[in-house]
Amino acid sequence: MQASDLPLARSLRMGVLKVHALEAGIQWLDGGAMFGVVPRPLWERKIPPDERHRIPLALRCLLVEAPGALVLVDSGIGNKEGDRFRDIYGVDNAGAPTRLEDAIRSVGFDPADVDLVVSTHLHFDHAGGNTLLDEKGGVTPAFPNARYVIQKGELAFAQSPNERVRASYMSKNFLPLLEAGLVDVVDGPAEVTDGVSLLPTPGHTPFHQSVVLDGGGTKAVFLADLCPTAAHLPLPWIMGYDVEPLVTLETKKALWERAREEDWTLIFQHDVRVPWGKMALEDGRAVLTPME
Ligand SMILES: [Zn+2]
Repeated sequence: MQASDLPLARSLRMGVLKVHALEAGIQWLDGGAMFGVVPRPLWERKIPPDERHRIPLALRCLLVEAPGALVLVDSGIGNKEGDRFRDIYGVDNAGAPTRLEDAIRSVGFDPADVDLVVSTHLHFDHAGGNTLLDEKGGVTPAFPNARYVIQKGELAFAQSPNERVRASYMSKNFLPLLEAGLVDVVDGPAEVTDGVSLLPTPGHTPFHQSVVLDGGGTKAVFLADLCPTAAHLPLPWIMGYDVEPLVTLETKKALWERAREEDWTLIFQHDVRVPWGKMALEDGRAVLTPME
């Protein structure tokens, strides 16, 4: 599995919104850590690991053409990390400068066109492309004309990380934005522009958020790390990385109920095979019907 096996972009029309799922590359993370308490014989049937026990994960971002703004949700890993990091996490995202920018151009836009960049949370595989390394070795905002929208609690958590989560937060992914005055801090649910709303979905991190899209008609939710792949649909399939797994459980229960009642489209950030689909209940078990 390589990044080039995935299409740069797939698009959905949702009422007044046009939604592009952008493939910003792939990474390989430890399968056991990705599935928490689920035993390997169960998860390896869903996503087979490589010889280093790692599974391939997409770095899917969303570009939403809303009437009032061009909104990017998450930004992949970026280009600031060295060879050792790229080897450990199996990062495959090279482009000009990364596959995220290639994908944005493939749907007719330029990084300078982006008005808002939403970070679901500030882990390196979600916010790493918020800033880029320039030719002089400096770190600069990747979307120079954008405001960056970050939850207040997540920003505070990222700036004082404890020993358990420290490896996931790198200040170069958000400090240069604060220094440049480009950050809009939000606290709780918020509508960032017509049709694009932030929904707190705590558990993976205490202030993790998902993004709800409502263009009139069908609604969709970009789950981010609340449910990284379609294999994580069953309630107890929760990542070992989550800092508050029992909170994830409650968040997931409530969201699955709402998604079924209102027939939401689920959008998965890390699933290399399934970008989006609809969920149904069969004998009390959540079952996904993937969409094209
Ligand atoms: Zn992630």
